[in-house]
Amino acid sequence: MSALAQLAEEIKACRRCELGKSRLKAVPGEGPEDAAIVFIGEAPGYHENQQGRPFVGPAGQFLEQLLASIGLSRSQVYIANVIKCRPPENRDPLPNEIEACRPFLDRQLQIIKPRLIVTLGRYSMARYFPGASISRIHGRPRREGSVIYFPMYHPAAALHQPALRTAIEQDMLKIPALLAELEKAEPALDAQEGSPQQSAEQLTLF
Ligand code: URA
Repeated sequence: MSALAQLAEEIKACRRCELGKSRLKAVPGEGPEDAAIVFIGEAPGYHENQQGRPFVGPAGQFLEQLLASIGLSRSQVYIANVIKCRPPENRDPLPNEIEACRPFLDRQLQIIKPRLIVTLGRYSMARYFPGASISRIHGRPRREGSVIYFPMYHPAAALHQPALRTAIEQDMLKIPALLAELEKAEPALDAQEGSPQQSAEQLTLF
């Protein structure tokens, strides 16, 4: 069993918070273990709780359309969430639930080692851009060492709000240039890997 599959089994058995009792199915995440891009959403909703898979409801269909707009399918990327079990009535995740789940997402990212981490919505943005406002920073990538962090609106929020929908569609179209930037920088960045003074820099692509 792969490291990621083993971790998924742990997540399915988790009882670290109350959501472990109310969930139908935990939603560990899915995608290739060597995915270059990881999308991080918020929490499973109704459909995800039924199926045990991330982004399979209307927000997921929209995410698939967005991926198709840059020539990607969901099978080529890893899709995860900040928390792995559905909050009752789709309420916002509580701080203790986010903390209880944090090691799972950390371990997933350690295994996958993505080059590009795309945050979908405020909760995943807060992991990498604490205190930031999504309306100010969406679509603005930040590189740290060999990884680019890229904040986007959540597809569920953008689905029915024309201004956000346009924003998320345009932000998605920036991803190919980010990947090209990573390819270009790869030899230099790989040489830096593990260096203690990896700096954060705002990319000036957009
Ligand atoms: N919204 C999320 O944030 N994650 C899902 O998996 C589905 C909807």
